[in-house]
Amino acid sequence: MRVTIFGCGYVGLVTGACLAEVGNTVTGVDIDEEKVVGLNTNHVPIYEPGLSDIISRGIAEKNLWFMTDAKNAISQAEIIFIAVGTPQDEDGHADLTHVLNVARTIGEYLTTNDVLVVIKSTVPVGTCEKVRKSIAKHLSKPLRFNVASNPEFLKEGAAIADFKRPDRIIVGVDHPDHAMRLRQLYGPFNRHHEKLMVMDIRSSELTKYAANAMLAARISFMNEISQIAARVGADVEQVRQGIGSDPRIGYAFIYPGSGYGGSCFPKDIHALRSTARDHEYSPQLLDAIEAVNDRQKLVVFQQVKKHFDCNLIGKTIAVWGLSFKPDTDDMREAPSRVLLDNLWREGANVKAFDPKAMPEASRIYGDHQQLQLCEDPYQALTGCDALVVITEWKSFWSPDFARIKQLLKTPVVFDGRNIYSPSQLDSLGFTHYSIGRKPVLQNEEDALLALAG
Ligand code: NAD
Repeated sequence: MRVTIFGCGYVGLVTGACLAEVGNTVTGVDIDEEKVVGLNTNHVPIYEPGLSDIISRGIAEKNLWFMTDAKNAISQAEIIFIAVGTPQDEDGHADLTHVLNVARTIGEYLTTNDVLVVIKSTVPVGTCEKVRKSIAKHLSKPLRFNVASNPEFLKEGAAIADFKRPDRIIVGVDHPDHAMRLRQLYGPFNRHHEKLMVMDIRSSELTKYAANAMLAARISFMNEISQIAARVGADVEQVRQGIGSDPRIGYAFIYPGSGYGGSCFPKDIHALRSTARDHEYSPQLLDAIEAVNDRQKLVVFQQVKKHFDCNLIGKTIAVWGLSFKPDTDDMREAPSRVLLDNLWREGANVKAFDPKAMPEASRIYGDHQQLQLCEDPYQALTGCDALVVITEWKSFWSPDFARIKQLLKTPVVFDGRNIYSPSQLDSLGFTHYSIGRKPVLQNEEDALLALAG
C-alpha cells in the first residue's frame, strides 16, 4: 500500500520503517527540514535500537523516503497516518495544534477519493471528529475520505519489537470497511494470533489514555509503598516480590524508583485528568498518581541534601543516567532533570554520564556552568562527593565498585533505581541509600522537607 506518515519522531519513524520493511511504499513528512535531509542521508535523529538499519534498508530499496512537501506526499497516499506530537498545553490539556495543522493540510491538498486518515498520535476523545471536520472544511472540492483511530503502544527502547510483535492493534472505526483496510496493512504483524481489536472511535481514543494511566498508577502505587516501607523499616524489594508473585498482580511495572517520566505518561495522565474535569468528574485517583510521582522525583535529591547536612554548596555529584529510562536518548520529563535542577539550585556541581543521551543533554543544557558531561561513567566520578544512579542502564548494574570507591572523594552511593545489593555495598564500605530501604527519612520534619522540594 502507499502510506504517508505525518511526523517523523519516535512513532512516525518506527511505524514508517516497519511498514516499509514489509513492502509498503512509505513517505514520511515532517516540517523539520534539517531532520528530513538527515533522514534521507541515513542520519536518524533519535536513538532507538534497530531503527537506523531498517531505515537505511528502506531508503536503499527505494520504498521509504522523507520529505517536507506535504502536497506531494498526500497526492500519493492511500492511507495517511498522523503521528505528530501532542504535548501538554498551558492548562494541562493535550495541545492539538500539530494534529489540526496536519488535518488542515490534508484538506487543502487531498485530490483523490477514499483516502483513510489514521490518527496514531495520542489524542483526547473527540479528536478524530475534529480532524474529520477540519479536513472537510478545507477541501477544495467534494471528496470522500474516512478517519480512523489507531493509537500506538510502542515502548521507546523496544519500539521495533513492539511494532512488529504487538500485544494488540487497537482500531477505532465508524465503518467495518475501514477496519478491513487496516487489517490488511497490519497483516504481516498479525499472523501469530488475532491482535486486531476493532471498536468505536471514542473507545479507541480512550483506550490509549486508560492504558498509560493504569501503568502509571502501578508505578505510583509502588512508589507510595516504598515510602511507607522506608518509614516502617521494611524492604520494598521484598514486598515487591511478595506481591508480584500473585498472578492477579504480576511483576510488571511495580518497580519502585525515582518516578516515571518520558514523553507520554506525564502529559497523558495530565490530559486525561483535564478530560475528566471538562466532563465535570473529579478524577481523584489520576490526581494522586501524578502527585505521588511529582513527590517521588524529589526523593533522591532529598536524600543527597540530607546526607550533606542541607549544604550542597561546593559539592560535586556524579550522576549516572540522564534519559528517562534505559535504551533511549529521550530526556523529556526525565527524573534526572528534576535532580539536576535541584542540585544546581542548592549550589552543587554535576558530572554526568549517559550511554546514549549525551547529545540530548548537551542540546538541552548547552554549556551550563554547573554541568560537566563526561565520556565514560568512571571519568564522571573523579573528584565527586557522591554518585547518584538515576537511570538503570544495564551497563550500570555491575560496575567496578573498587574503582568507584577509589575515584569518589567519599564512598557514597545513592541508588535511585534499587539496582545494587545493600549488603554488597555495606561489605564494600559504601554509605548508600536506595528507594524504600534503609536508611530512611524518619521524622516528620524530613517528610515535610521532602514535600517542600
Ligand atoms: P516526536 O516529538 O518525537 O515527533 C513528532 C514529529 O512531528 C516531530 O518531528 C515534528 O517536527 C513533527 N511535526 C510537527 N508538526 C508537523 C506537521 N504539521 N507536519 C509534519 N510533521 C510535523 O513525537 P513522538 O514521540 O513520535 O509522539 C507522537 C505521538 O505519538 C504523540 O501523540 C505521542 O503521545 C504518541 N506516542 C508516543 C510514544 C513514544 O514512546 N514516543 C508512544 C506511543 C504514542
